[in-house]
Amino acid sequence: MLVQVALPVPLYRVFDYRLPAATQATPTAEPSARPAIGSRVEVPFGRQTLIGIVVAHIAAADSSVPLNKLKSIYRCLDNEPILNAAMLKLAYWLARYYHYPLGDVFGVILPTLVRQGKPLDLLITHWRILPNITDDDFHPNAKKQKQQFDMLKLHGERGASEDVLLLEGMQRPFLKTLEEKGLIERYIEPKQAPTPVKLAKLPLDLNDEQQQAVSTIIAAHKAGRYTGFLLNGITGSGKTEVYLQVMQAVLEAGKQVLILVPEIGLTPQTRARFASRFAADIVLLHSGMNNTHRLQGWQDCRTGHAQIIIGTRSAVLYPFADLGLIVVDEAHDGSYKQQDTLRYHAADVALYRGVQYNIPVILGTATPSLEHLKLVDDGKLVECQLSTRPGNAKPAPMQLIDARLQSTHQQTTDDGARYDTGLTDAMIGAIRQTLEAGDQVLVFLNRRGYAPVLLCEACGWQADCPRCDAHLTVHYSRQNSSNAYLKCHHCDWQAYIPAVCPDCGSQNLDAKGIGTTRLSENLHAIFANPQTSKVLYPIIQIDRDTTRRKDSWENIYQRINQGDPAILVGTQMVAKGHHFPNVTLVCLPNADRGFLSADFRSPEHTAQLMIQVAGRAGRGDKAGRVLIQTLQPDNALLLKLVKDGYLSFARELLQERKMMGLPPYTHAALIRCEGKTLAVTMQALKDAIAILPSNHNLAVLGPIDAPMSKKNSRYHAQLLLIAKERGQLHQVLSHWWQPVLALPSAKYLKLTLDIDPVGW
Ligand code: ADP
Ligand code: ZN
Ligand code: ZN
Repeated sequence: MLVQVALPVPLYRVFDYRLPAATQATPTAEPSARPAIGSRVEVPFGRQTLIGIVVAHIAAADSSVPLNKLKSIYRCLDNEPILNAAMLKLAYWLARYYHYPLGDVFGVILPTLVRQGKPLDLLITHWRILPNITDDDFHPNAKKQKQQFDMLKLHGERGASEDVLLLEGMQRPFLKTLEEKGLIERYIEPKQAPTPVKLAKLPLDLNDEQQQAVSTIIAAHKAGRYTGFLLNGITGSGKTEVYLQVMQAVLEAGKQVLILVPEIGLTPQTRARFASRFAADIVLLHSGMNNTHRLQGWQDCRTGHAQIIIGTRSAVLYPFADLGLIVVDEAHDGSYKQQDTLRYHAADVALYRGVQYNIPVILGTATPSLEHLKLVDDGKLVECQLSTRPGNAKPAPMQLIDARLQSTHQQTTDDGARYDTGLTDAMIGAIRQTLEAGDQVLVFLNRRGYAPVLLCEACGWQADCPRCDAHLTVHYSRQNSSNAYLKCHHCDWQAYIPAVCPDCGSQNLDAKGIGTTRLSENLHAIFANPQTSKVLYPIIQIDRDTTRRKDSWENIYQRINQGDPAILVGTQMVAKGHHFPNVTLVCLPNADRGFLSADFRSPEHTAQLMIQVAGRAGRGDKAGRVLIQTLQPDNALLLKLVKDGYLSFARELLQERKMMGLPPYTHAALIRCEGKTLAVTMQALKDAIAILPSNHNLAVLGPIDAPMSKKNSRYHAQLLLIAKERGQLHQVLSHWWQPVLALPSAKYLKLTLDIDPVGW
């Protein structure tokens, strides 16, 4: 008897091993001595010792390697399988669909500590208050201790895990002190069977469309059959309430619910929305977790201890004891596609898992991707529409400002220099009006920093990154002008701002264009300067630079939610999911640039972003409006979007894609090659084309240099294969891709394969 093991090596095969000598000798040994399929074993591999997953038991006669050449496994790490049949099937499917080595698939699926062979039942320290301890046990002067004690007290009798407490701001020395004083104790929480989920708050009364959606989805749940739903609801239409009421039925049936969200920035808020409705065991899964917590979360999902699981992309790969529903919120979002290693799309995997478990899967969005609309057309997704906002809230109308007719507003600095604010007078007027009415304004600009380019006015020199095909972004602030530098947003290269042009010596260097820092300063000069404005309005900048610190989002949130008039300036961070009830005006000074981009997906993504940002307006009781400042007011796509809305716009794009034979009407695989020069990468891809089977029936585009071909001093070329039928593509890839990896010219290069790529 042999075992087949998937090992974390980039080879498209599994490896046969003999059982440890002791087990071989006694055929009647305990069955537990033979490692179960789905359990971990430690094995010799060359000179290394590796940990792998047993994927099959085979007879010695069925091995392609003679018995005396086979090595024995060193030891079994688990008494029972850690991956059940469904998880193994998932791994096989991922390996096949994405043409990725099975052992490496496990490398992606398994938490680090599991891969390292750690036992699954890790112990997490909890803290709780000892019985009979009251506030009187504190000396009046021990204020800090009392304050820390009160934080723990909020968690009630059961206390909380140490990590949670530290996150909330408790300090470890105080935990120790309080323990030494006999006020609190540490303990290991015994894992109990989860208690049935209870409603913590009553559901809302649904409107007709919501009711229709909820009943349809619950029917699929009750029937115990897979159905993929596209919950297509405009921003603010109450998609979450639909999720919640479907979840209620699923949770009451004792099953788990998985909710995928695009970004971790949203999870605390999201968690609160679910936690306030259900008294349930909620687990958050995201990239910010440490290894212990990830393992704990993995275990909680696997054992069924977790009832509601909220996670980012990779949560779709977790094992679940009894999954009853998957929700993919903002299903169009680009973050669902993994852009390295195993390049899976979490929405696609979610649908696969729905089929696996015979459960409904909800893809919720206000701006469905063209792929998902096509699935509706093909009858593979059932569409549920929500076309209104509950109550009085109305979606904000969008209005164009022709920036060719109105020049942008000029300002003068203290030393008399004039500069362009990048905002038309019409937009500035609307902002002022909104602030004076006591409301908030959101100005969206998807570019952080001060300016995207540093240019020499005399000779045209531009500050470029020495390692990438990209300009360096100018980081600077008029208030703190000593802190000025150039930075590459692709590889983080940094440089000082030169005093003179390195090419011609001119001092005439100018920061061109506008990023969020500069826009904030311009707005500051207009709306927060005593010389130009009677009332000084706060300008709140929200981007990666201002939210880097852990608590900064919280602070920003608090400032916004106080509700006083203010201007928020943000990048796409503000586009998603946030609820700012007092924002009634959303301004997009130049969000429409994306309609001109070379990437055929750019109009789709630009429109999605614009609609999401626009959706931040008028979410409270007051009506909102959206102003789009553009230099191309005749652009047919832009007009379509503004006049007829996202769905008509998307339908038109779909027609175009169909005519041009682009995805989703065809199926693509993108092969990228990375190396030290462009020439070697191009050569490898040419060699790859040369070994394509003669009757492949695919469109082959390339090799060409990839967009931004030089990045971090490495060069990238790419090749695109497009097929009419998905089957044709996979047929070719399954015979061709492994020989490509083995090409002599590819030996020192990095070759990657991206199935269903989202950009090229
Ligand atoms: P979406 O996720 O579709 O953008 P939300 O789920 O955030 O929208 O809902 C927007 C607001 O509408 C929320 O404040 C929510 O509580 C409220 N809401 C949703 N459904 C109802 C309903 N049936 N009755 C009253 N208010 C509702
Ligand atoms: Zn110059
Ligand atoms: Zn760079």
